Parts: sequence; structure tokens; C-alpha cells
Amino acid sequence: MSHIPFSLPGFEIQQVIPVEGQLHITATAIREGAACPICGQSSRSIHSWYQRFPQDLPSSGQVVRLHLHVRRFRCRNKACPRQTFAERLPEVVPVSIQRTTRLTALLKTIAIAVNAQEASRLLAHLAIPASGDTLLRIVKRTPLPIPPIPSVIGVDDFALRRGKTYGTLIIDLSTHRPIDLLLERTAETLSPWLREHPGVEILSRDRSSEYSRGASEGAPKAQQVLDRYHVLTNMHEVVKRVMSRKHARLVQMQKDSGATIRTRFKKKRSNAEIAASQVARLKRQERYEEVLELYRRGKSIPTIAQALHMHHMTVRKLIAAGAFPERSAHKSRRFVRLEPFLPYLEKRVQEGCENANLLWQEIGQQGYTHGYKPVNTWVREYLGKPGRASSEREKAKRQAFFDAVQAEQRTIPQPETGDPEIPSLDEKPPMEVDPLESPRHLTWLLLRKPEQLTAKEQQVLTFICQEPDIQTTYTLAQRFFRMVRERQADQLDSWLEESLSCGLPDFRTFAEGLKREYAPMANALTFFYSNGPVEGQVNRLKYVKRSMYGRGSFELLRQRFLQAS
Ligand SMILES: [Zn+2]
Repeated sequence: MSHIPFSLPGFEIQQVIPVEGQLHITATAIREGAACPICGQSSRSIHSWYQRFPQDLPSSGQVVRLHLHVRRFRCRNKACPRQTFAERLPEVVPVSIQRTTRLTALLKTIAIAVNAQEASRLLAHLAIPASGDTLLRIVKRTPLPIPPIPSVIGVDDFALRRGKTYGTLIIDLSTHRPIDLLLERTAETLSPWLREHPGVEILSRDRSSEYSRGASEGAPKAQQVLDRYHVLTNMHEVVKRVMSRKHARLVQMQKDSGATIRTRFKKKRSNAEIAASQVARLKRQERYEEVLELYRRGKSIPTIAQALHMHHMTVRKLIAAGAFPERSAHKSRRFVRLEPFLPYLEKRVQEGCENANLLWQEIGQQGYTHGYKPVNTWVREYLGKPGRASSEREKAKRQAFFDAVQAEQRTIPQPETGDPEIPSLDEKPPMEVDPLESPRHLTWLLLRKPEQLTAKEQQVLTFICQEPDIQTTYTLAQRFFRMVRERQADQLDSWLEESLSCGLPDFRTFAEGLKREYAPMANALTFFYSNGPVEGQVNRLKYVKRSMYGRGSFELLRQRFLQAS
């Protein structure tokens, strides 16, 4: 039967028999001898024959089962403790594995690419029966490649469970390949890893004190570099905090300016809707006052959040707002269809129901006829959790902006001197103006380059910069972005000094933090390295994690992520 185009090195094919939809292929071992696995001496003395039935790659849509006739040899070496041994066939089927080597290789590739349950279903169609557990076992058993120790690494955290537990991702910044995943983001996990992987010379990281300590203890000789992306993100947050705090004051300034504020289009609401929204507003106000009262009594933000069942970021925002934050016209219009049901929804959420789908069904029975999405958005916002879509859109926008900031330094820097100029207000204030945008929106006005703003945005910028604290924020933020963009390490000292003495607590805290990390910050303005690629890997990791539907263990996640890269 040697004409059958079926190859099995070291065997002669004897028979191919179809048995109940399967192909049974009988083959006999034909090599002349085998080497003893203990002493290595080769032997031709056959002790006995026996059979093995491993599964092989499918053929013409049929499961293939091999019937292998293999041998046991006698070891002729008198000094060897082994008397007999089974012949080794690693290239066809390893000892005590019920699957050929080539089938295992295929299963491994598929199990790494697709989650195990899906892979199992897919393989059934290909005439390769393999359970999800088998596939997981194959992935776990595969030894990880050991990459050479890189001299430049990036360290970043990623969420194992959003908002709950975080791990650490380590990446080779010269090849942009991931090297390892660690189960925590603490100094106690990072420093032993660095000791076990000596040779790291430059380590790029965010501003976490844990990574700082872990790096100093684990690789005391390595230069630490603050990642510019993280530093810019922090600056963005500082500006946003100032803006949220000052927003109520800016709105008041606009009212006092004498200009007519255009009203945005509003759908006429029924009396019931108006009443419902007033009730909701009263409830929010009540909550706002509760928060302030606890805060005045000296309670910490986490304590307040826990006592009132609110997200700590919501508490923080309310405290920073300076006055009761009204919902902006834009925002309330988004939920206009939900308004009749808001009192009910608020009651249910306060009872602890955070399942938007369930709430949607409940108000559906009360007459709500619209989609699920607004319900979900409302619930997330009410709980102070940004929805995945909106928070990722914001993140993507921020990343694109910071990427542009960092990309510019590769072109020839345009020497800029002095503070950015703000166009002066026209003598007569415009008669009609748009209402001020949200703090988040105004923050971007302060961060973008003045020449990138439209005339209308320029006007808004000029207007809000009349408030001295906003003017200070604008100047310091613009100088910070320019310093990072053009890597002006010589500007760091004067920037820190001015921020420390500018009178804005947000800037002072940020500057104090940077001062404690003076060398890593100065390195960020000197070295070219940046964690940009780490962010890309974190996104890939998220994909691997989601495809596992949260069922896999950390070790499995690590295996799949590192083997797939
Ligand atoms: Zn031997």
C-alpha cells in the first residue's frame, strides 16, 4: 500500500479501513533499532510488539485513528538499570500522548487564536473531536518562549477586572514585543521580576509610586523614565479639575457680562415631564447637600462614597464643583424620552439594581417604547461610571492628541518663546453668545495650540481667560505641553517653581509629585523612549481577555497572550 499518499515517518502503512465514518489506518514501525532512553546505547533486539491508537489529522472530512504497531526493545548494556524500553517516536507521537505531534501543533495554534469553547465547536466541523478542556490543557502545557533580556523596557498596568484588580505588562521597548505579564501592579511583584531578569538599563513607567519603588529596589542601576503619555494625561486631568471647580463661576461670569445667551433648541415638554424632572433635580440637590454636609464634617471621599452608595469619582466631582452642578441643557435633552421614568429609575438604582437591561424591561411594561441604549447610558452616568463606548472614545481622542504632541518633536522644533498670546476681547462684547460648554469641552480649549482654534473658540478662550485662575492654568498647561513636545529639559526647573507658587492647589500637588520624581521626569524630556507601544499591547491584551469571557485563569491569560505575540 506504499502508493497511498499518506506519510508517517518511520512507519509502513498497511491498511486503510473506513469504520463508522472514521478512517482507521494501520501502520508498522520499520526502523531497524532504537536508542535506550537511559544509557543511549542503540539496540536491535526486539522484546515484544504492542499497539497504540493515537488520533491524527483528519482526512477527506473523516476522523483519522491510527493503529500503530510499535516495539519494545531490550537494552543490551549490562551497566544500564533499564532492561527493556519502548521505542521513542517524538516526531510522530510522543510517549503517553493519545494524539500525533502534528495534530497537537494544529490544536495549539487554534486554541491560542480562539477561545477554547469556540475552538472546540469549530474543530468538530473539521472532523477533529477535542473538548475545550483538552485545548486548555494543550495551551497550558506549551512551554513559553524565553525572550532575551532587553535593556529597555516599558512597564504599564492593565485591568484584570475593571476597577478591581490590576496586573502589570512588561514590554521590550526596542522590539515592542511583550515580555511578561505579572499578576499585580505592586512593587513586591515588579522588583523580584527585575532581579530575576538583570540587565535592564532603561525603564519607562507611569507615575505610580509602586512601580517607582519596585524599579528602584529591583534594578537600582537602571535609569527610570516617566512615560510622556502618562505625564500628559496627568496634566490633562489637572486642567480638567481646575475647570470643573471654576465652571460654575464662569457660567455666572457669562450671565453677568450683559450678553444675551442663546438658548439651545428644546423640545416642548409635557407638564408631567417637567414635574418629573423637577423631582429628579430636587433629589440630586438633596444628594449634593448630603455629600457636602459629610465633607464639612471631615469625612473622606471614600467614606462618603460608601455611606451614600455613590461612585467616589461622583463624590469628588460634586465636592469640587463649588456649587450645585445643574445638568446642562444638552445633557437633559438626551434623556428626554426617559424623563417620565426617571423617578422610578432613580428609585430602582438606589435600591441597588444596576442592571440596565432589567430596568429597560421594567419601564417597558410602564409604557417606555424606546431603545435600551439611553437607559444604559443614563444608568452608567447616574452611577458615575462612564460607559465603555464614551470613555473609550474620550480615551482615543486624548491618545490621538498626545500622539500628535509627541510626534511633533520628531520634526524640527520651532523655537517658541514667551507665553502663548491670547487674542484680546473686542471692545464691545458680542451681543449674543452661546452658552458655555461643559468643563470637559473647555479643558480642550486650554490644551490645544491657539492657532488650531476656530475664531469662535478663540473668543470663548479669551472670555474664560478673564478669570485669573483660568489664565494661570492656560499659561502653565501650554508651557508644559510645549516643554514635552520639544523636550526642553532646561525648562523643567522654572516650570516647577512657577507651578509651586501659582496659588492653584491642583498645580501645586502635581508639581510636588513631579519634584519627587525629578530624575525620571528630566529623563522623559531627554530620552526618546515612550510607552506608546505598551498602550497598543494593552489593547491587544483586552481583546485576548474578552475572547476568554472571563473564565480563564491568570496563568492561562498569560500563556495565550505571550504565545500569540
Ligand atoms: Zn540502557
